[in-house]
Amino acid sequence: MTAYSALNAAQLARLEELAGAENFSAAHAERELRSRDAGHHPPQLAECVIWGRDAAQISRVLAYANAQRIPVTAWGVGTGLEGNAIPTRGGILLTMERMTRIVEVHADDFQVTVEAGVPHKDLNAALARYGLFFPPDPGANATIGGMLANNAAGIRTVKYGASKDNVLAAQVVLADGRILQLGSRSVKQSSGYNLLQLFVGSEGTLGIITQATLKLVPVPQHMSAMIASFADVTQAIEAVVAVRGAGLDVAALEFLDVTNTLALNQAGTDIPPYPTLLMEIHAAHAATLDEDIATVRALCAACGALHFRATADAAERKTLWQARHHAYETLVRNHPNERIFIMDVAVPISAFPQLIAHARATIDAAGIRGYMKGHAGDGNIHIELPYATPEGLEVVKGVNGAIVREAIRLGGTATGEHGVGIGKRAYMAQEHGEALVVMRQIKQTLDPNGILNPDKVL
Ligand SMILES: Cc1cc2nc3c(=O)[nH]c(=O)nc-3n(C[C@H](O)[C@H](O)[C@H](O)COP(=O)(O)OP(=O)(O)OC[C@H]3O[C@@H](n4cnc5c(N)ncnc54)[C@H](O)[C@@H]3O)c2cc1C
Repeated sequence: MTAYSALNAAQLARLEELAGAENFSAAHAERELRSRDAGHHPPQLAECVIWGRDAAQISRVLAYANAQRIPVTAWGVGTGLEGNAIPTRGGILLTMERMTRIVEVHADDFQVTVEAGVPHKDLNAALARYGLFFPPDPGANATIGGMLANNAAGIRTVKYGASKDNVLAAQVVLADGRILQLGSRSVKQSSGYNLLQLFVGSEGTLGIITQATLKLVPVPQHMSAMIASFADVTQAIEAVVAVRGAGLDVAALEFLDVTNTLALNQAGTDIPPYPTLLMEIHAAHAATLDEDIATVRALCAACGALHFRATADAAERKTLWQARHHAYETLVRNHPNERIFIMDVAVPISAFPQLIAHARATIDAAGIRGYMKGHAGDGNIHIELPYATPEGLEVVKGVNGAIVREAIRLGGTATGEHGVGIGKRAYMAQEHGEALVVMRQIKQTLDPNGILNPDKVL
């Protein structure tokens, strides 16, 4: 394991010079602001914060950091949940918060080139006048760099795919300061090893993403949101399989347990207190949308739905999805003296009911509370586990471990979209076997001094 020493005054001064004084701070407040992400992992302070400005500046900083063995942890806006961006070894916190330029919109090609620090909601607001949007949506206003680095996904993955499916090219700075252009603006690419995708999901451990060219899609003409309630979880999941199997243009297929329906209702919805599916369907024509809604209604009824409601009203649809996005904040408010451990696993859709049953039994056996919601159309579940004490956290970690191992056993993965960070490293060997050794070899090749985001992923 690489040994890192505390930065001395000469190193700090040189970093300030390389970054530019206006892009450098060793102030405690700046470091503390970026010492923890949105998850449960304990905070750690970097020794200085550097605001990235462009590839050339980042290249200068990395080349020096590499020569001096100084750890560098990239930071988007810190909405990760697995400690992915926590600077566990001090060193440099390299934030992309000032790299927010939309470099060029290629509207006729359905593409945009952006700097890595652009938050995805800001990007979509700017793209609205072109009638286009970037579909991956993790809910939080995450940066494009953070989304690519974590391969973030969210509620619309069932139709549009995750971040990895929506990127064509990227500019990346390696640990030694080399600047690479990966991929191209061609939608079809068959040239050489797919290095672009190596950096997607690498959590800042292989290089720093400075720019990316993203795929865009037209804003749909007609949309409907639907809510279906079921007597039990198994029926709800049967409906997920039926709706997916019907070949409809489903753009979101979300599962909520009863507790989460109550949390959403606190944020303005009126959802019956049962296991629930929230769905969104897109169509090019109003008549097609009506037909699709009728099909979904019939499929849900055949699976035993107790209630079904569909709306094409834009305001009602917006309230529903806003409430879904704020369900976590509502849960936090409902547990004022507790912290919330959020876990994320994914399995093949056929194994989803088995995973949910196992999770529920594990949570109940541990005598704790667990709130489930997830991107059911992708077989992805998130479970929120409140705890109040260090002992409580250990119990929660035990439950988390049992569910993760079951997900892998069922042919799934330790993380569908939150990444490995610190929290999921323990399961990498079970999931990847010998491939983990190859991952370590790749890391050694690209970052032989181990300066990029130490302690993460591997
Ligand atoms: C309430 C809530 C709900 C969420 N729901 C979802 C969800 O539904 N789906 C989902 O996918 N995620 C979800 N997330 C997780 C989170 O939003 C995503 O992981 C997001 O991609 C993190 O982006 P960020 O900009 O905040 O990055 P950060 O958290 O700052 O960093 C994430 C990782 O990316 C690295 N990184 C950041 N920028 C760069 C760069 N330019 N180059 C290289 N590496 C970089 C960091 O080092 C770190 O490893 C949720 C989070 C919260 C708080």
